[in-house]
Amino acid sequence: MFDTDSQDDFQFNLDRVISHITDRQTSISSKPILPSSDSITSTISSLPTTLPEKGLGTSSTVNYLLEKVLPGILQAQNGPRYFGFVIGGVTPAAQLADILATSYDENVQVNLYQQTASTAVEQRSLELVSDLLDIKRNVFLGRTITTGATSANVLGLACARDHLLSKSPHLPLGYSWARDGPPSSPTLPSPPIVILGLHPHFSIAKASSLVGLGSGPRVIQSMPADSEDELAFDLTKLEERLKEESQVERGVIVVYGVGEVNTGGFGSGLGKVAELCKQYGSWLHVDAAFGGFAGLMPELREYTKDMDKADSLTLDGHKWLNVPYDCGLFYTRHTSSLTNMFQPPSASAPAYLASNATSVSASDHDDLPEGTVRAADVPSPLFVNIENSRRFRALPLLASLLSLGKEGYTDIIIRNINFARSVATYISTSEYYVLLNPSPPSFVHKGSEKRDGAIIPSNIVLFRARSSSTLFPPQDKTSSIKLTKAINESRKVYVSATSWRGEGAVRIAVSNYLTDQKRDLRIVLDVLETVGKGEKVSWEEEGAGNGLA
Ligand SMILES: *Cc1c(COP(=O)(O)O)cnc(C)c1O
Repeated sequence: MFDTDSQDDFQFNLDRVISHITDRQTSISSKPILPSSDSITSTISSLPTTLPEKGLGTSSTVNYLLEKVLPGILQAQNGPRYFGFVIGGVTPAAQLADILATSYDENVQVNLYQQTASTAVEQRSLELVSDLLDIKRNVFLGRTITTGATSANVLGLACARDHLLSKSPHLPLGYSWARDGPPSSPTLPSPPIVILGLHPHFSIAKASSLVGLGSGPRVIQSMPADSEDELAFDLTKLEERLKEESQVERGVIVVYGVGEVNTGGFGSGLGKVAELCKQYGSWLHVDAAFGGFAGLMPELREYTKDMDKADSLTLDGHKWLNVPYDCGLFYTRHTSSLTNMFQPPSASAPAYLASNATSVSASDHDDLPEGTVRAADVPSPLFVNIENSRRFRALPLLASLLSLGKEGYTDIIIRNINFARSVATYISTSEYYVLLNPSPPSFVHKGSEKRDGAIIPSNIVLFRARSSSTLFPPQDKTSSIKLTKAINESRKVYVSATSWRGEGAVRIAVSNYLTDQKRDLRIVLDVLETVGKGEKVSWEEEGAGNGLA
């Protein structure tokens, strides 16, 4: 079959794909974000009903993708005005590197450093992300690239679980859930481990159920917030609780979110929480999927600077780092908690997976920062990670870090936060909307510049219609969904619906490197104003003059 696909055909098809990509890259800012509903219907009805007996060949398949499939998917999720979830985008270097990663299709699984440098590339990329966050390379020697923050959270909770149980006085010393299965002992508290958090991301519950700790309210418990700062732990109550748990000798995982998903806000007190965890033998898991990078803005640095005190840390590459899906990052200071879980005892390790490296040791090169791991010492990724076979996710990550440097990333973070602040300022003075996440007073005081209450801490704007609104009355449970829909139907701006303090709300999360303070801001404010007035903004109505030129 493939002999019919001559080299010429490959070149021809590659050129078509490249020109399609080039066109997207240059026009993404003016593409409608959502496909039309006709396009979606037409894509779905074009799907093959059965597997063809005889394949179409590459050329016809590429035609089919370009003409039938791609028109029915999101047209600009990685464009500058897709503000749903926290999506990021793809920097040019990351995009090119990702294409190359596919071309080489290397499986980054075992460290065979004399045959390939790919595991060294992965390790160095993880070290460069530490550098970006000013975390010393020797703090988190257990590090790996995952499919996202969810799987990094799975790793964090699994490491915590085994670490805590290995020290439980109710179990044999060195007990491992991973190896020995669920623990049982007449004196073991039930549940053996609790997870204490404030507003943990939904993926923590998933991770906790997956690693067998359970996800019900007996296991995942909400701690009281500080009376002045709803995103910060009440430290007195936290300490009391940790003391009680240490008296009954129950394991405790404290999950600390850096960057709350609804508000993008930060509580203060990470350093103090870390001290308490250390004092009472609890495990501190910091989920900083997107918020961890906010500290590149100097005035937010104090909220992220203690991330290096965590026992384990989750970050995302595919959100604010603007690296393509999928890419998450996991770091832990307890390297052995990772390797104990995933590395089979050497006697039972399949011989074909053997490599020279089984443990992490620091670099012996004088010219490299302490904690830089030598190529020969990089643990095989399959011994520190869920997957065996793995994509070369490090290549786009490395490329993006290298192409932008610390300055380039700092610029993206600051531009995105300033964009969100401009939208928040509009919302807070609008006759149609109310801003739900203005700065807490503590934040306003601490900041260096004078600012009004509309200034939000980071990259998320949370709002709903005013209670006087007849179009989207907030008393009506569905009105935020209707408001979201009306905004998204513009196809120029995309936001997501959420719920905040039990009521519907709309959320704008700014995390794309392209989002521009002039043109994109004007478009966003226009759409919000028009929808607020009750007028319809539709792409079709405005036709060629859709305001995006
Ligand atoms: C997005 C997010 C997650 C989940 O990350 P994925 O990469 O989508 O798996 C977890 N925690 C926080 C705080 C997040 O923002």
